[in-house]
Amino acid sequence: MAFLKVAKSGTLSLNEKSRALADAGRQVYRFGFGESPFPPPRRVQEALRRAAHRQDYTDVAGLPALREKIAAFHHEVDGYPIQPSQVLIAPGTKPLLHNIMRAFQPGEVTIPGPSWVSYAPLARLAGHKVIGIPTAFEGRWRVKPEDLERAFLRHRGMDCHKLMVLNYPGNPDGLTYSYEELAALTAVLRRHGVWVIADEIYGLLDHRGQHVSMARLYPERTLVTTGLSKWCGAGGWRLGALILPPDAPKALHDALVGLGSETYSCAPAPIQVAALEAYELDSELHGYLAAQRRILRAIGSAVHLALAKAGIRAHAPQGGFYLLLDFSPFSDRLVARGICSDSQLCDRLLADTGVALLPGGAFGMPSGSLTARLAYVDFDGEAAQRDGERIEATATEHAAKMLEGIAALRKWLR
Ligand code: PLP
Repeated sequence: MAFLKVAKSGTLSLNEKSRALADAGRQVYRFGFGESPFPPPRRVQEALRRAAHRQDYTDVAGLPALREKIAAFHHEVDGYPIQPSQVLIAPGTKPLLHNIMRAFQPGEVTIPGPSWVSYAPLARLAGHKVIGIPTAFEGRWRVKPEDLERAFLRHRGMDCHKLMVLNYPGNPDGLTYSYEELAALTAVLRRHGVWVIADEIYGLLDHRGQHVSMARLYPERTLVTTGLSKWCGAGGWRLGALILPPDAPKALHDALVGLGSETYSCAPAPIQVAALEAYELDSELHGYLAAQRRILRAIGSAVHLALAKAGIRAHAPQGGFYLLLDFSPFSDRLVARGICSDSQLCDRLLADTGVALLPGGAFGMPSGSLTARLAYVDFDGEAAQRDGERIEATATEHAAKMLEGIAALRKWLR
């Protein structure tokens, strides 16, 4: 007899470790946890307050009015038609991703790496084989159509569903795909009949507001996941949404609703009512989103510039709030100090300087790669919002604590 072996998600463990250090009075530079620094819009918070009396279970798929709102919202921002019946609501996208993986049986899941910490564990929990496709710094961590083609040809003939996860703007890389890049990938995916789980949770935080949804290019087999956690600053509220393809098999829809009914029952009713307000796409909400993009762009560039000056390689961020750092220019020096892996690097950094980074291995990178993820969210989002148009001029002030952390990192590397 035994118990299922499931390690605690890397991001959550680091958050707990650095909180313990801070509680013990140590200076900690919290680059580890990717939580939005912005509060949800005031009117959404008020709607939640007003909905506190809602104690009912809703439909498993979510409130019909909210499914309608989300369909209309994403139709407008992403530019492709969506019927409310295609939308399923859940307490966060993580349970949706879990249930999507479970619903496809048998299946194998292709995951270009680096990739978010939970995809591979969720695929394995569903009993699937995971096929990793490594990408390179020089190729901007983008998966190339020819690499996909090779992977699908190698696994041709397997009598199972083929799934692929595509996440952009990406965690941990902060980069996105252009329309042309997506079109080239789509040609391969279509040829091999692959289902795409498009994790577009950072789509509205594309720094230039130019996110292209995969569902526009590959509507017949794309399952888009999104929700309030990132663009609405409401990770702990737990509201995620899945947009199914228009002609998704009824059996897939039923499996997802069935799995939802046996696991989470529904997203919390008060949160769904508040989300009706969050998905009201008026000029106020456009302003709220535009301000976040502008702030993240300004602060992301300030942090990226400081890292570049310290000699650490990273691509300039395009969306969300992460940078994937490559310490390979320092590999000789690090090896001389007995640091040969990403986890040794992050452990020593935290112990010596209080800089908390997540090792690239948590994102499927080879441990010898000396990569780590940095989240640039340790600033007062509300104060930055108050700066409005001046944010480019004040970004370094808002990012002061993070820049201090990078200075500590730079000193340590020398
Ligand atoms: N997908 C990515 C890429 C994420 O970074 C996260 C959260 O960090 C999630 C999904 C989970 O989001 P949710 O809060 O909706 O479960």
